[in-house]
Amino acid sequence: MSRVYNFSAGPAVLPEEVLREAAEEMLDYRGTGMSVMEMSHRSKAYDTIIREAEADLRDLMKIPDNYRVLFLQGGASQQFAMIPMNLMKNRVADYIVTGQWAKKAWQEAGIYGRANKIASSEDETFSYIPDCSDLPVSEEADYVYICENNTIYGTKFKTLPDTKGKPLVADVSSCFLSEPVDVSRYALIYGGVQKNIGPAGVVIVIIREDLITEEVLPGTPTMLKYKIHADNGSLYNTPPAYGIYICGKVFKWLKKQGGLEAMKEHNEKKAKILYDFLDESRLFHGTVRKEDRSLMNVPFVTGNEELDAKFVKEAKEAGFENLKGHRSVGGMRASIYNAMPMEGVEKLVEFMKKFEAENA
Ligand SMILES: *Cc1c(COP(=O)(O)O)cnc(C)c1O
Repeated sequence: MSRVYNFSAGPAVLPEEVLREAAEEMLDYRGTGMSVMEMSHRSKAYDTIIREAEADLRDLMKIPDNYRVLFLQGGASQQFAMIPMNLMKNRVADYIVTGQWAKKAWQEAGIYGRANKIASSEDETFSYIPDCSDLPVSEEADYVYICENNTIYGTKFKTLPDTKGKPLVADVSSCFLSEPVDVSRYALIYGGVQKNIGPAGVVIVIIREDLITEEVLPGTPTMLKYKIHADNGSLYNTPPAYGIYICGKVFKWLKKQGGLEAMKEHNEKKAKILYDFLDESRLFHGTVRKEDRSLMNVPFVTGNEELDAKFVKEAKEAGFENLKGHRSVGGMRASIYNAMPMEGVEKLVEFMKKFEAENA
């Protein structure tokens, strides 16, 4: 068996320890004689799994009691519709468009009401986060929406926008649990877990209780109502049971690492190795405004497409996988989520130095 350094943007690297543990429990989960995959979601064993997962997540993020945690399906993309269906009481919402994912969410919201684009960085290929200190937030806006970490472009909000009192909704798919957050500043936080937490198929929604109401847009399917899932403890129907089990293991792994403060420190150190090299390199350079750089997704280019392709090919041969940039940016992107070890980034930079010496 040999494992590569996997820089995929998602589905992405998971802690090896978690995978090993899951493998050990695959055929017989703790004396139940069955795999978690084969288990009723109404069983006692599964009840413990999902309750512990929620408790550990609450612990890690210090989620206040007036927020509910929902384990749902449909990926982050389903939330693009579920959010307006449940929260657009006035049928008005303000969107800050900082990348493809925010843009998709904005477009989807437009199906249900007036979705205002109140700021955007599309003019410069989403390579920065716009100034959000004094935005034209609409009087009637039901919420202000951001994508906090832009997976494709490698930017991150370092300060949250001033929403002028309106509820803040954030897609945190690619920065989930990478650093501490003050949950109370948000009305709703959500993320697909396949970037930083677990296997694809689970999306976690953390929502302030008062926003969970019967009053949703007409025609909203039962499965897309937050209330039905909140009332049933994420067990209204069969949840993505195995995925939640793995997420639970990752939460425990994160606690063992020292929690989110420790992760932040680790992630900052790790990203700095790569960014410092990009800043001094004669061949490679980052594509994002320095102040807005993400700790999780690091896009870079040589400025020569052929050389970029050569780098991606040779990197793969050397055991560094999935470094090709998103098709809309080109070049390379190294996603260095929580589970990417420091050593992975150190070795990548070593490899980049060698490539530079041979090709610059
Ligand atoms: C990957 C990603 C999505 C889409 O996730 P799906 O689970 O595939 O729908 C949405 N937002 C962000 C920030 C992402 O990184």
